[in-house]
Amino acid sequence: SKSLAEADPDIFGGIQGELARQKEQIELIASENIVSKAVLEAQGSVLTNKYAEGYPGRRYYGGCEYVDVTENLARERAKQLFGCAFANVQPHSGAQANQAVFQALLTPGDTFLGMDLAAGGHLTHGSPANQSGKWFRPVTYKVRESDCLIDYDHVAEMAEKERPKLILAGASAYSRHIDFKRFREIADSVGAYLMVDMAHYAGLIAGGVYPDPLPHAHVVTTTTHKTLRGPRGGMVLSNDIELGKKINSAVFPGLQGGPLEHVIAAKAVAFGEALKPEFKLYAKQVVLNAQALAAVLVERGAAIVSGGTDSHLMLVDLRPKGVTGKATEAALEHALMTCNKNGVPFDTAPFTVTSGVRLGTPAGTTRGFGVTEFQQVGHWIADVVDSMKGADEADAGVSQRVAGEVRELTRRFPIYG
Ligand code: PLP
Repeated sequence: SKSLAEADPDIFGGIQGELARQKEQIELIASENIVSKAVLEAQGSVLTNKYAEGYPGRRYYGGCEYVDVTENLARERAKQLFGCAFANVQPHSGAQANQAVFQALLTPGDTFLGMDLAAGGHLTHGSPANQSGKWFRPVTYKVRESDCLIDYDHVAEMAEKERPKLILAGASAYSRHIDFKRFREIADSVGAYLMVDMAHYAGLIAGGVYPDPLPHAHVVTTTTHKTLRGPRGGMVLSNDIELGKKINSAVFPGLQGGPLEHVIAAKAVAFGEALKPEFKLYAKQVVLNAQALAAVLVERGAAIVSGGTDSHLMLVDLRPKGVTGKATEAALEHALMTCNKNGVPFDTAPFTVTSGVRLGTPAGTTRGFGVTEFQQVGHWIADVVDSMKGADEADAGVSQRVAGEVRELTRRFPIYG
């Protein structure tokens, strides 16, 4: 049959355009990464043809001999990587992994306690716009206004007052370590389940450079495509086999039909990569790079929420620079650096504008950037932001100069051959 280029030049063109963009821009979106060719190959494989409702050894379709092998490998590698007793690798996304846990442990109307979206939590942690906020009764904890850290005494007070059935720890825009042991003590004090959504930190946890939630949480969810550097998808982990059975039923048939076996095979490949010693070095470098980037931005007069980072990401508070998150995101894109605008805690700007940007180092580190390169990136960002002089656009000369230098750097650190 025909190649994609021959069969569908429009789609082929879009993919080629995206490949060129990824090659030439510096990816600073904290939730993104650059997967290996092996992961791409598994995901682009014939496993996409296969229906395999059910779980390995207990399928509702024939012909599952080989997908049983690949799904079992994914499960075993996930358990080995995170040192746990149970893994469900079928959730199509992080949002669906979270939904599965809610379905397994809560009944509509139940109260749960999660981190406020405006403080760094995720939409699926109880936003009124999300199913988690529509079908359940979320109550939220924020960060402390003085230092933007989680205030565990406040979490404990909220738990005592609201008596949630489940407490959810984990975030999308929180750069510091989270004390999962303390969260479990709080959960135990009110008889609640502790769920940890480690989506952002999973690769750092696998690499041993971020606190491990698995000894403390009843159940852990994650995406597989962020710091963990696998294909887009989700996963649920636990040390409680009985709870695992409930999770399995919630994922299928509770929530999903046929699993994406091609994606599951790609997850297995990524977990195999993360089990290698090199991945520990990668995870360590991601954090060192983030700290180096944050230090340059502070030196150049931006503020970092909470003063710095212990992880792969940081929230840059742009208010000292007099520019918005929205304008900065656009200005940096012109200079070939991609990031996302993000509210800072207690932001008064509309969420479509925001006072901050979120930056992360997972993708840059994968392409080989070290501290020197990320210090350079910090100076480029500051050059662009300073040239905005409080307005919505960067100086064209500065923007062009930086874009040219970015092109040189990304050429020195090529991806995908
Ligand atoms: N949980 C957290 C903490 C996240 O940051 C995200 C995505 O950004 C998700 C869940 C949702 O993952 P997905 O986009 O795969 O549904």
